[in-house]
Amino acid sequence: MKSVSILGATGSIGDSTLAIMRRHPDKFNIHSLSAHKNTAKLIKLVEEFKPMHVVVTDESAYLTVKSAIKRTEIQVHSGADVLNEIVVDDEVDLVVAGIVGNAGMDSVLSAVQAGKTLLLANKESIVAAGALVMPLAQKTGARIVPLDSEHNAIYQCLGGTYQVGTHPKDVSSITLTASGGPFWNKSQSEFSMITPDQAVAHPKWDMGAKISVDSATLMNKGLEIIEAHWLFNMPNDEIKVVVHPQSIVHSMVNFLDGSVLAQMGCPDMQIPISHGLGLGERLSNDADFLDLIALGRLTFFEADMEKFTCLQLARDAMIAGGTAAAILNAANEVNVAAFLAGQIRFDQIGSYSAKILNQIAVVPVESLSQLKALDIEVRRKTLACINSVK
Ligand code: NDP
Ligand code: MG
Repeated sequence: MKSVSILGATGSIGDSTLAIMRRHPDKFNIHSLSAHKNTAKLIKLVEEFKPMHVVVTDESAYLTVKSAIKRTEIQVHSGADVLNEIVVDDEVDLVVAGIVGNAGMDSVLSAVQAGKTLLLANKESIVAAGALVMPLAQKTGARIVPLDSEHNAIYQCLGGTYQVGTHPKDVSSITLTASGGPFWNKSQSEFSMITPDQAVAHPKWDMGAKISVDSATLMNKGLEIIEAHWLFNMPNDEIKVVVHPQSIVHSMVNFLDGSVLAQMGCPDMQIPISHGLGLGERLSNDADFLDLIALGRLTFFEADMEKFTCLQLARDAMIAGGTAAAILNAANEVNVAAFLAGQIRFDQIGSYSAKILNQIAVVPVESLSQLKALDIEVRRKTLACINSVK
């Protein structure tokens, strides 16, 4: 039995993780569940899974949850800081990092500090704090298992002896596949008219709102380049991107003898999450099996970096190093929220993020407190930028 802490249990990653837990009650028990605001869903999940601990990170939502949970053996906690105590509990074997955005950074670092096995979906924490997370994992022996489908695909292709954080042996490059999102065929001149509803309607993946918008701007692929750089210890020129609209090949590893290994499957996050939770053992799940004959053909295209400016922006931030990726990541998060709230246009997500990246000096990453202060500064400046042009 593995004891699992699921952070962001009410989200899309939480849904997929819990669907696998439902199938394998003999293998997992739920140590803890966290949510931010979605009290109704959290209460239902607590009734079903009966975790030992429940964390409501939005303090204003705490009382609703606390008063609904009558079982005295279940402890209900309030506030984001508690996550740091929960993930380091001796009883926890696996931590699923499924919180969206920079809010997931602290708990990821705490889990790594405690040497836990971290199943990582929250890519933003690695993008911003990879320079802290990866050396810390090496020091504490924490095992990081990527859940992001592309990174999980590469991890699967690298085989059981590969250790995340090291440059893979005999590998010349990796190729991340991108679906291209819903606007792959739209002309750039139409980008200013795109609505939030159109942007969150991803053609292949069913995901939370923020990552869906990131997929539509291709910032998601940009963040994934940076995520791959940290997880696989690879430089910019060894990380390629190819657009593959069917989202069946989830990524590829190119070995120096010309062999290419790819991982395939239907676009369903239960597949990479099952792989992560299984830690070497294959677990059944609700995802469909792949039917290549029904699909007929798989296609691949070059990514249009001029049209999808966010992809280039992220690559440039990675090359710049230091705090550049953290700045871009935080600015993007604020701009995506403003776009979803109808405050800025789709094309402004990239242009405002670029503007903020130019406004703030890039320095080496030194500490979590530095990154937290930077996050506050970037948020303030991005909001000022949004408000000044409204
Ligand atoms: P969702 O928006 O569906 O869920 C986000 C989760 O985080 C919810 O449980 C939410 O709680 C919680 N949350 C939101 N804000 C905060 C906060 N300030 N503090 C603490 N918790 C918070 O997101 P996804 O599940 O789609 O994505 C989660 C992460 O996984 C992201 O980093 C994303 O990039 C990554 N990922 C997701 C994939 C997917 O298929 N969805 C694929 C690959 C990576 P509540 O619901 O209560 O508000
Ligand atoms: Mg992905």
